[in-house]
Amino acid sequence: MTFAATVLTLYPEMFPGPLGVSLAGRALTEGRWSLSVTQIRDFAIDRHRTVDGTPAGGGAGMVLRPDILAAAIDSVGGGVPVLAMSPRGRPLTQARVREIAAGPGVAILCGRFEGFDERIFDARAVEPVSIGDYILSGGEMGALVLLDACIRLLPGVMGAPSSGDDESFESGLLEYPHYTRPVEWEGRTIPQVLRSGDHAKVAAWRKSQAETDTRLRRPDLWERHAGARVKPPSGARHTSEDETK
Ligand code: SAH
Repeated sequence: MTFAATVLTLYPEMFPGPLGVSLAGRALTEGRWSLSVTQIRDFAIDRHRTVDGTPAGGGAGMVLRPDILAAAIDSVGGGVPVLAMSPRGRPLTQARVREIAAGPGVAILCGRFEGFDERIFDARAVEPVSIGDYILSGGEMGALVLLDACIRLLPGVMGAPSSGDDESFESGLLEYPHYTRPVEWEGRTIPQVLRSGDHAKVAAWRKSQAETDTRLRRPDLWERHAGARVKPPSGARHTSEDETK
């Protein structure tokens, strides 16, 4: 089955861009995913092909008009989730990427300027998605990120079917660190345990490294991971938060 990606943008020339090379590019040629790019401006209704307006209530910048966006969305076939790139959206996770990749495809709306008229989200069941807590100049890079993350999970795209399973976030932890040749480099050696040939020891070392790195670098992930492992005994419903109410 072909994963059908649709991108709605004011800059169609940005696609497939980096998705035309390497793993994703080969998968595109092989027909494992398809790409359709819609120029939002084609749905403008005036002589000047205007897609934006000044913000209601005042302020800097321009806002993408809901009527133009709706016409663009309505022009693409249904049956796939419609996402909009927005720093106000829910942060993208590997779990959401897996869900999307397991489906028939995705349509992605790319913002520019100050973003979208808010009414579009409700009116067309558009899901706002953020790729992180920083501001891009447009949604196109975000769409490329999201599609890249999905495409590598499609059947037949990655070499070994298991090569994705160990990655960071798949288990709720960062991945363990990697080493390769040379064994000694600039006075630094590969940890002895990785050269021991003892698979159980290697596995234990990797697990402990993954846990330590996650705890130190990503306390947010670590807290969730630790919380998921230590379930409160059933019946013990009262949390300290309840007590303070
Ligand atoms: N005024 C908006 C930012 C607009 S940036 C705000 O403060 O929330 C212009 C466009 O870039 C957005 O509409 C969105 O499509 C894209 N964009 C910027 N940062 C993003 C992020 N972190 N994740 C996803 N898309 C982003």
